[in-house]
Amino acid sequence: MALGDGADAAPVHFEVGPIRPPNEANSLLVRVTRNCPHNHCTFCPVYKGRPFSERAPEEVEADIQAMAGAAERIRKRIEICGVLNDAVVQQTLAEEPCEGAIQVLRFVATGERTAFLQDANSLVMSVDDLERVLKTLRAAFPSLERVTTYARSKTVAASGTDELERLCRAGLDRVHIGMESGADRVLKRAAKGVTATEHIEAGCAVKAAGLELSEYVMPGLGGRDLSEAHAEETARALCAIDPHFIRLRTLAIASGTPLDKLHKSGRFEPLDDVGVAREIRALLVGLEGCTGTLRSDHVLNLLEEVSGKLPEALPALIAVVDRFLGMDAEERDLFVVARRLGIVRCLDDLEAPGVREQASTVLRHLRERYPGPLDVAIRALMSRFV
Ligand code: SF4
Repeated sequence: MALGDGADAAPVHFEVGPIRPPNEANSLLVRVTRNCPHNHCTFCPVYKGRPFSERAPEEVEADIQAMAGAAERIRKRIEICGVLNDAVVQQTLAEEPCEGAIQVLRFVATGERTAFLQDANSLVMSVDDLERVLKTLRAAFPSLERVTTYARSKTVAASGTDELERLCRAGLDRVHIGMESGADRVLKRAAKGVTATEHIEAGCAVKAAGLELSEYVMPGLGGRDLSEAHAEETARALCAIDPHFIRLRTLAIASGTPLDKLHKSGRFEPLDDVGVAREIRALLVGLEGCTGTLRSDHVLNLLEEVSGKLPEALPALIAVVDRFLGMDAEERDLFVVARRLGIVRCLDDLEAPGVREQASTVLRHLRERYPGPLDVAIRALMSRFV
């Protein structure tokens, strides 16, 4: 009997939203709302054209039960095979009725430790409903060590500490906030719909409620004209909050976004990789008051090595940026191309056998195809990852 045939009354279909933070790659994805209730940020392509809607708690609970059923069938397949092998993957792909089952397989294969609530701003859901969903999730998957979600500062700042504490008690552990910038001029131009003061209020409220806080910052979002203010004021806001995690996600201009239109009409001048590196350096210099962990765990970031525990790692992180900035122009271009193609992860990787030759070949082709400045070609490469 195929394990997928163990039919009972349990639901089998569940929804999965389009994105999750990079560090939630192995998490169970529980969609509590659809899309983004704001949806105006100029740089963000993810939910454009898709209307926001809340989901009824019973609908989300049915999804959780469907995922619990899929997880149980996957566990049995692994038990029969004795190991998670290709047969388990193939059987899951063939027999599970829901596309999201492959994410459940990833979750089961990595020990069923984390879950992430989708989509862009789960805290718009009423606290009663979210509390109910969290309790159902924790009961269905008792091995969960961490449940996290995205939230907007605007929503968090409007919530009371009591409400955040209730969510913490119900099993929410961490909130990821897209701060992007702590500079009001940058936030306004990006149509983020929030001020630096609201970011600070929200960040402090999350921490006061006993939740972990992860703030996403977007190097490059200030463009050339606001780069300095972006770095300095973002560092100041981060120091006022002192989040548990600061995560860098470098700006890439996605085709068709409002920012793309601004760029094409000459009203937004993006930084090249050297400009972004200088901006990150200025940000780092301002982070001396922070005690959390800085992560550069997004594929759009050039310098993945800029990761470490603050403030003690700061000198080493600044040294990584200085090493990149101190390379001669040709060497820098080679590294940038190699990194954007995924051939290297850190600066030392450029010395690995064959890497320099491979990067040189690609660089030559790029220069033939894009005769202007290299950053035009690099932007084209990066847009693949947005
Ligand atoms: S709030 Fe987040 S998901 Fe919504 S438009 Fe802005 S960046 Fe995109």
